[in-house]
Amino acid sequence: NPALTKIGAQMSHLTGVRAIMKDIIETLQAGAGKEFINLSAGNPLILPEVEQLWRDCTAQLLASSDYGEVVCRYGSSQGYAPLISAIASDFNRRYGLNLSDRNILITPGSQTLYFYAANAFGGYCLDGELRQIVLPLSPDYTGYGGVSLAPEALIAYKPALDIDAAAHRFKYRPDFSQLKINEETGCVIFSRPCNPTGNVLTDEEVKKIAALAAPYNVPVIIDSAYAPPFPALNFTEMSPVFGDNILHCMSLSKAGLPGERIGVAIGDEKLIQILESFQTNMCIHPSRYGQAIAALAINSGALAEISSNVIRPFYRQKFEVLESTLEQAMPDIPWFLHRGEGAIFAWLWLKDLPLTDWEFYQQLKQENVIVVPGSSFFPGLHEDWIHKQQCLRISLTASNEEIAVGMQRLAKVAEQVYAKS
Ligand code: PLP
Repeated sequence: NPALTKIGAQMSHLTGVRAIMKDIIETLQAGAGKEFINLSAGNPLILPEVEQLWRDCTAQLLASSDYGEVVCRYGSSQGYAPLISAIASDFNRRYGLNLSDRNILITPGSQTLYFYAANAFGGYCLDGELRQIVLPLSPDYTGYGGVSLAPEALIAYKPALDIDAAAHRFKYRPDFSQLKINEETGCVIFSRPCNPTGNVLTDEEVKKIAALAAPYNVPVIIDSAYAPPFPALNFTEMSPVFGDNILHCMSLSKAGLPGERIGVAIGDEKLIQILESFQTNMCIHPSRYGQAIAALAINSGALAEISSNVIRPFYRQKFEVLESTLEQAMPDIPWFLHRGEGAIFAWLWLKDLPLTDWEFYQQLKQENVIVVPGSSFFPGLHEDWIHKQQCLRISLTASNEEIAVGMQRLAKVAEQVYAKS
């Protein structure tokens, strides 16, 4: 084995949920023949209307004279010009903005974008000082755990809990009494809607975070992988928030193109230029085939239309199945489901759980149901907090029946483990 650098050792390890996925894949393989209900997946389902949209756009691209220009030549590091113009005009019309081509960067998936941003703005500065990458509300996307080349830069804040005990519901809120954004902050990042919790920070909360960061020129990166206008996986009203220090980041992955790897950053020209150079150094530019079909789907309006009329209702209905099954099946224990405001997951908190989330996950596996233990969704939150071991992420990418049966079995396991304590 070659000797690894510090960065080599770090980056050759999987973090968070990716590490658990290994256990899940091994479970599925070892249990071949068993009928597992897999509620762990983050991979969106292939919805027929969505697949058809991408097929039609591909046919249109193949038939057009642009084809050679798209795939047979290098392009600009900023991204494929027709996609950039399509996004600029769509957003200008939709949100009354004044974006030019200079405000937009296309990257190979949004994970890459967070890698650029985390390392351009967070980590060690020329003066030797460490600039923090602040996650204002933990839990949040597990992928943020692996993006910094200086992992000690990642700092997450415990949330405040808004609990509706009678309804068995709760919601995380940023705890502004604790949150620190100051000269030590390099950037702020959060997902809205949130993977894993389905939380949507309110417009006011987002504006407050951006206002805290503005005096220090700290970029606020809003990971809008589930937000409107595409894939529009918000089940509650929300408006994208823009501003001088905000980088509004999107992904086409949940709108049916995860395989094509398309991420989008929208923001101030100065911020976009920094990330663009980072991209030139790293990979020259993202692949152009996906960008070309995305431009067609955005320009025709079909992508936004399918997002709000097909993708959103599909997952919202899955959440309702999960919610109503839990209401019927859960025993008399302190369980709390996070308000389902968006994304493709449900987040369940089992207060006073007598086991760890990992042990509960193992017991549920014995009943052939797989969920994801919640403790992997607290990157950057180093303090002990029992809540970190009391939550589960449940994917909405299964059939209605699988979700219902999965939740009935989960309720039974919960009944047994609380009864034993
Ligand atoms: N951000 C969030 C909140 C996600 O859930 C995901 C993927 O699941 C990503 C970013 C990364 O998406 P991609 O790199 O496919 O754009």
